[in-house]
Amino acid sequence: MAKTYDYDLFVIGAGSGGVRASRVAAAHGARVAIAEEYRVGGTCVIRGCVPKKLLVFGAHFAEDLMDARRFGWKIGTCKFDWPTLRDNVLAEVERLEGIYQDILDRHEVETFAQRATVTGANEVTLADGTKVSAATILIATGAHPAIPDVPGAGHGITSNEVFHLESMPKRVMIAGGGYIANEFAGIFHQFSCHVTIVNRGDIILRHYDEQVRDRLLQISLTKGIEFKFNAPFETIEKGKGGKLTVKLAGQDPIGTDLLLWAVGRDPNTAGLGLDKVGVELGKNKAVLVDEDNQSSVPSIYAIGDVTDRVQLTPVAIREGQAFADTLFGGKPTRVDYANIPHAVFSHPPIASVGLTEGEAREKLGGYKTFTSDFRPMKNVLAGRNERSLYKLIVEEGTDRVVGLHMIGPDAPEILQAAAIAVKAGLTKAQFDDTIALHPTMAEELVLMR
Ligand code: FAD
Repeated sequence: MAKTYDYDLFVIGAGSGGVRASRVAAAHGARVAIAEEYRVGGTCVIRGCVPKKLLVFGAHFAEDLMDARRFGWKIGTCKFDWPTLRDNVLAEVERLEGIYQDILDRHEVETFAQRATVTGANEVTLADGTKVSAATILIATGAHPAIPDVPGAGHGITSNEVFHLESMPKRVMIAGGGYIANEFAGIFHQFSCHVTIVNRGDIILRHYDEQVRDRLLQISLTKGIEFKFNAPFETIEKGKGGKLTVKLAGQDPIGTDLLLWAVGRDPNTAGLGLDKVGVELGKNKAVLVDEDNQSSVPSIYAIGDVTDRVQLTPVAIREGQAFADTLFGGKPTRVDYANIPHAVFSHPPIASVGLTEGEAREKLGGYKTFTSDFRPMKNVLAGRNERSLYKLIVEEGTDRVVGLHMIGPDAPEILQAAAIAVKAGLTKAQFDDTIALHPTMAEELVLMR
């Protein structure tokens, strides 16, 4: 007789990937349970993409209100009140958390609001000691901010705490050169903080096209954001009134009110019991999975940030959907990782899809680049000296557009639509054949010669 389990599927982690996988599996008729140790919705909803983007919107008003005067608006003294924005953002997060819980409830996914660990190939143990069995276990535990092993590192905060600050600091130091570091640099700068980005290496946004990331660096420096490159941390000391003194290698100590670690995110596998049941872990202790998200233990699967493939919400969601359709919907599906659009919500934002010029040089027989370097119409009237840059990478021979990189107002909004064309393999001639929509910034995409 076939062995029976309490559930067909037990999901650990109710974030972007876990919620999608569990509700789709349930819709396919599976008996599903999910455990969440913190808040339903996961990183993206509770302390990632969503509250971050709301702060980006809030920060943008600093420039919009300044520019408005050039457009004829008489504006008195403007004052920014951080607690108002913070509390409104946190209230919105709470509303979304409720919606995610509702999605689970409506699909009859049983939620356990506690930590879960894996104690067997088909067994999960909850924090209160309850043991449950499941035919399949899905690890969707996400990742957490890395904190370097430096004396006094604990005096810094991470993106987990940043949305809850009591007050706006005057001076902020951000460690890291990735998208989270650059996004928070823009946010804090617009809120009138003095921002210093400290980077271990000598470039920011390593995976972005060189010309585009250089443009952000140039604009950020002009705005007054400071950068310290090749500057490893030595010590962080806390003084009277909570002020921090940071010692970077080879430099004089720097005082700051807040230190934000944004140096990467490590998979949440510590203490999960995976090694004890034989699940193989890879670099950074990520769960190693095959193309169908299956681990080295056949009944245990993993999706999302915990697998450290591409740490983005839409990817975790796709993986959750593919997992559930394959296992419970009779529809074998694999995620296509080619041409994933991605963005940095800096000021101004960056967006990108496909090969960078550096990658094209390595991977293609031949390629051409087309660039448009322009000052957006709105910036001209506002007297704002920031230039946008759009760049197309085109494969020689096939004429296919294989990369698109943009920095400028609304770049992520524009790129999402253009990414469809890149993903579909359209040629430069087909871009050029499309009549421009005038006057827009996006028309540059079809006017590059
Ligand atoms: P998560 O959403 O992290 O969910 C994992 C869940 O598992 C968590 O709720 C956690 O509490 C729970 N959990 C962990 N261990 C256990 C356990 N043992 N038992 C029970 N529960 C457990 N991505 C984008 O695409 N765009 C963005 O603009 C963007 N901005 C970001 C900004 C910030 C500041 C951060 C930190 C991340 C951002 N991301 C962004 C990344 C995005 O949030 C993640 O890629 C996404 O949330 C991954 O989804 P997931 O399901 O793998 O994990």
